[in-house]
Amino acid sequence: MAIQFSNRLKDFAPSEIGEILEVTQKPEIISFAGGLPAPELFPIEDVKQACKTVLENQGAAALQYSTTEGYIPLRKQICERMKALDMESPVEDVIITTGSQQALDLTGKIFLDEGDVVICESPTYLAAINAFKTYQCKFVEIPMDDEGMSMVELEKSLKEYPHAKFIYTIPDFQNPTGRTLSLERRKKIIALANQYDIPIVEDNPYGAVRFAGEMLPPIKHFDTEGRVIYLSTFSKIFSPGLRLGWIYAAPHYIQRYIFLKESTDLHSNIFSQMITAAYMEAVDIEGHIDKIKEVYKERRNLMVDCIEREFPKDIHYTTPEGGLFLWVELPPQIDTKELFYKALKNNVAFVPGAPFYPNGGHKNAFRLNYSNMSNEKILEGMKRLGDVLKEVLDA
Ligand code: PMP
Repeated sequence: MAIQFSNRLKDFAPSEIGEILEVTQKPEIISFAGGLPAPELFPIEDVKQACKTVLENQGAAALQYSTTEGYIPLRKQICERMKALDMESPVEDVIITTGSQQALDLTGKIFLDEGDVVICESPTYLAAINAFKTYQCKFVEIPMDDEGMSMVELEKSLKEYPHAKFIYTIPDFQNPTGRTLSLERRKKIIALANQYDIPIVEDNPYGAVRFAGEMLPPIKHFDTEGRVIYLSTFSKIFSPGLRLGWIYAAPHYIQRYIFLKESTDLHSNIFSQMITAAYMEAVDIEGHIDKIKEVYKERRNLMVDCIEREFPKDIHYTTPEGGLFLWVELPPQIDTKELFYKALKNNVAFVPGAPFYPNGGHKNAFRLNYSNMSNEKILEGMKRLGDVLKEVLDA
């Protein structure tokens, strides 16, 4: 059968990461590979109560079709929370999406034609790469250091690619590196975007999960021209399963997102939206987020202690001040995909770093997740990983 698929799928290959995550599912494996929140922290009893409240008070509306923009009480609550993060937004500029992932896909749909350039951090979030790639774009990667994307390199690329469509950045506790863009660079990136007249897509799922250091204002806070599209989500502060995220952007963007979202899914799950709104009405979500931060801080500390104790000395690693991940860089001769299979034999797993670089290369890094494993498993898993690393690096 000569099935004709679209050009968009011409580079289609089953996801390497999907295969990796599948082999890490076995119960004997301690996996630092995924990016899941700690399941024991989900507020199940409060959600039960919120479901009851919604069904008793608004049952028919919760099961009915709804508006594309999203449930107004939830959008108002989001605006309230964003105020605390130094962002003043009218409710009309905020729409609900089916997770931030949908916002990333819609962003590709809004901006990208074949051959267009997206400027991003190197490395960057794998599922954003895949979402944008579907629209057949090219990526220009900007190197990072411990203060995030290099502004010198960014300016060089803005000069070299004057028609680039947008800058994609994850300024807080970036996935995969855990790095945070410094305050100076936040001011610089917006100045450069203004100067070179380019939108910024600020993807910020982790900013609210800061457990150390000082809160930094989002890039959107410095946006005086309505060029920053701010994306965030309930996935890391409440529940990823409810699939709720949001976009905050100026009307000229928001209208286009609404137009495209309507043809994608009509609207995000209205029952989920009402449950989340009822939950936030009844419970102090900030208190809940504080619990998450406490647990993740302890786990990050433990993981970093284990790296110091169990790993060979000639490696580099990040110490994130929030979020779910840290990033380990090994000497350049080490291929972490090969290391991954050695680690699996020792019943421990991570994600090799190469797929996070859209243009390839960079085989010597890997990502570790600390949110999803108990302290005992972190201790044991890091010991197993340390043994594998010593074996490989001492060879
Ligand atoms: N952006 C980044 C940087 C992420 O790490 C994730 C999830 N891991 C998402 C977006 C998507 O999150 P969700 O769709 O669950 O909101």
